[in-house]
Amino acid sequence: MTTLTGVLGYPVAHTRSPAMHNAAFGALGLDWRYVKLPVRPELFEETVRALPASGYRGANATIPHKLAALALADRATAAARGAGAANTLTFEPDGAIEADNTDAGGFLDALGESPRGRRALVLGAGGAGRAVAWALRQEGAAAVLVWNRTPERAAQLARDLEVDAVAAPAPAEIVVNATTVGLGAAGGRDDEQALGGLGLDGLPPPAVVVDLVYGQGTTPVVAWGRRAGARTVDGLEILVRQGARSFERWTGRRPPLETMRSAASGP
Ligand code: NAP
Repeated sequence: MTTLTGVLGYPVAHTRSPAMHNAAFGALGLDWRYVKLPVRPELFEETVRALPASGYRGANATIPHKLAALALADRATAAARGAGAANTLTFEPDGAIEADNTDAGGFLDALGESPRGRRALVLGAGGAGRAVAWALRQEGAAAVLVWNRTPERAAQLARDLEVDAVAAPAPAEIVVNATTVGLGAAGGRDDEQALGGLGLDGLPPPAVVVDLVYGQGTTPVVAWGRRAGARTVDGLEILVRQGARSFERWTGRRPPLETMRSAASGP
């Protein structure tokens, strides 16, 4: 029988995860499928609890279900607890539901170098900002500065994770965009309007710029990073790396990264 996995979200129409995971299953000759599971918030819990008996090994959770996914789990990894949200559920043979947050590890994999001893600036204090700030602190960054458009959210995150909230973007070696700024922007634009008033133009050039946002072409924050002479990591690589960690958790197999990258990039 085909083993099933999928992504729980509302909406989930535009996700690239099914293409990425199904290509990976195919490359390894696994009789597995990954499907879209559009589920309204009020039906989330009963839907998840019905999945194991319907042949599901696990599921990703995306907006708006990441908090609910953690809340219903029987067990949670340190990353899920630290980020306060889960994007990966695994249905264990003993009936337990395990929650993980592969956005945190996926971010570190995509970063490709240790942040130990380095100063990092995280823009955004939503779910993704929280996962990134937790990962940076966990890996020994010398300072993790969090800026958010709504300052109270940055202050709350700083208290929860023992990092520092800043009132304005401050100089750092690693700059991470975990806001939605740049979603749907025309490729390649890096003017102040496209950067959505993030206040990046006043900063000295960082060594690395990471953008969690991905879309068609170069995002405004990646374009800014290139202009500043930084090494850049784009949101597609983070999508691939968080997906690779979910894939490995469910299948126990080494994920075929190149296959996943090319499937995620789309036609
Ligand atoms: P979220 O919880 O809804 O948080 C959104 C964040 O964006 C908040 O910090 C919000 O600030 C900020 N924001 C929205 N509009 C803004 C603007 N005009 N100027 C400045 N800040 C603005 O969303 P999330 O789950 O953290 O996701 C954030 C982004 O990361 C999304 O674009 C998502 O697609 C991306 N992401 C990518 C991956 C990947 O695999 N590549 C994984 C996870 C997330 P306020 O608090 O002031 O509203």
